[in-house]
Amino acid sequence: MLKKNLNLTLTASRHTFSPDSPLMVACVDCKSGLDVHQPDMAQPERLLGTCEQCGAWYLLACRADRRDMVVMRLPEEAEIAEAASRLGIGPAPGG
Ligand SMILES: [Zn+2]
Repeated sequence: MLKKNLNLTLTASRHTFSPDSPLMVACVDCKSGLDVHQPDMAQPERLLGTCEQCGAWYLLACRADRRDMVVMRLPEEAEIAEAASRLGIGPAPGG
């Protein structure tokens, strides 16, 4: 396994958040409503948002004490490929 620190630029936005209201988050790219998933039951404030319309993924960090939510767009294929190439992993031979 290759491990290396990489600097990635993530697009982030901050939204108001109320623990009492249903979570409604729009995709930054296409403005569609995100499907919200909770991958870790032990961390209910950390959610994953996926956009069915354009395929974007977001990390949603809800901060009830600050009444806000930080929405970070996760890297796309091109950025993942770029990260992989910096790690020295190229496309599979003959692929
Ligand atoms: Zn979208």
